[in-house]
This record gives sequence, C-alpha cells and structure tokens, in this order.
Amino acid sequence: MDIMNNIDPRPLTPYTRDVLLKKIKAQMSSHRFEHVLRVEQAAIELAQHYEVNVQKASLAALIHDYAKERPQSDIEDVMTPEEKALILPFGNNIWHGMIGAKLAQKELEIQDTEVLEAMKYHTTGHVHMSKVAQILFLADYIESGRTFDGVEVARKKAYESLEVGVQFKLQRSVAFLASKNQPIFPLTLEAYNAWNHHIILK
Ligand code: GDP
Ligand code: FE
Ligand code: FE
Repeated sequence: MDIMNNIDPRPLTPYTRDVLLKKIKAQMSSHRFEHVLRVEQAAIELAQHYEVNVQKASLAALIHDYAKERPQSDIEDVMTPEEKALILPFGNNIWHGMIGAKLAQKELEIQDTEVLEAMKYHTTGHVHMSKVAQILFLADYIESGRTFDGVEVARKKAYESLEVGVQFKLQRSVAFLASKNQPIFPLTLEAYNAWNHHIILK
C-alpha cells in the first residue's frame, strides 16, 4: 500500500491510518484510490501553505470519494425524501459527496463537522466553506493527475489565495457544464454567485 505520509487520522476517526486506507481502498477501483491519494497529497500541500489543520485536510481528502462507487440503493437508504427529490435527478456525480458524508460518519466514525462538510461539498462547492472545505475543493481539482485545459492556471490561482482558487474553479465549472448543456446543481450556482459576485440571495 502506498503510504505517502504518516499523518495519524486519530482521534478524528478511531481507525489507524493503515486500517482507514484499507477501508477506503475496499470501496473503489485502484484507479480511483490512486486519485484519492493524490488529492490527499495536494490537500496536505495546500494546508501547509495556508497554515490550515493538516490532519483535517488529509482526512477530508482520504474520504472525499468514499461513496463514488457505491450503488444507488445504499445511498437512498440514508437519504430523506427531500434529499431524494433534490439530489437524485442530478445523479451520482452530485450525491456521492453529499450523501457519502453520512456513510463516512456511520462507517468510518468521523464526527468532525469541518471534515464532513468538506466532503459533503467537494463536488458542488458551497456559499459557506471552511478553509478545510476550500482546500479539498481545490485539491480535487488540481491534484497531480489532472490534465484538463487550464489546470496549470488553476494550480497557480490555488496558491495565490484560497479565495482566488475557489472563484476560478466555480467559474470554470459553471462554464464547462453549461457548454456541455449539463444541468447545474443549485448549490453550485449559489456558490458561483456568492464567491465571484458577492451575491447571496438567502
Ligand atoms: P471526482 O469525484 O474526483 O470525479 O470529482 P468531483 O466530485 O469534483 O466531480 C464529479 C463530476 O461532477 C465531475 O465530472 C464534474 O464535472 C461534475 N459536476 C460538478 N458539479 C456539477 C453540477 O453542478 N452539475 C452536474 N451535472 N455535474 C457536476
Ligand atoms: Fe468526487
Ligand atoms: Fe475526487
């Protein structure tokens, strides 16, 4: 197993790093697990740069795609009817973080709000994101395996400031989704308006 660092996730979870990694690895393809480890590396580097809690950044990154390959039935079990109505039409891409946070709480025994909220909003972003959440949002976008057009600009902006990085990712994501005629989740639009234009409607 690739242990790239020895950051101990305890007591944010009762599990040692070794056990936690095994549990996460068991949930996904090796391809995705490698992505998770690269996101952790990117998150640690950002956390060190911005003097944010490295242990929380590491843990949030390790769990962020925990539910990405879980069947819809597992997810529906932990969703309220309101959540189903809002989230299911957008598919796995949207719910794997939002609902995955509930599975991580239950199965990985993580209770830290900052870590869980970072996971919850890692795909869509949110009007209100802690520094840990901002770091995960950016780490997932700029991890060393990402090769999309503009990733170098994204990496540079992420190190200008977290705010500039988040603004850029939201702007590019909204534009990208619209260019592909994809639906845009309400939280993503709210986050885009708030972070880029300081417009908060509620
Ligand atoms: P991953 O889990 O590491 O692949 O990355 P993410 O969790 O950030 O994103 C998963 C996918 O969701 C990506 O392909 C995004 O383009 C897509 N996505 C992000 N926001 C939205 C949205 O508002 N609407 C839709 N339809 N897709 C989105
Ligand atoms: Fe994800
Ligand atoms: Fe990811």
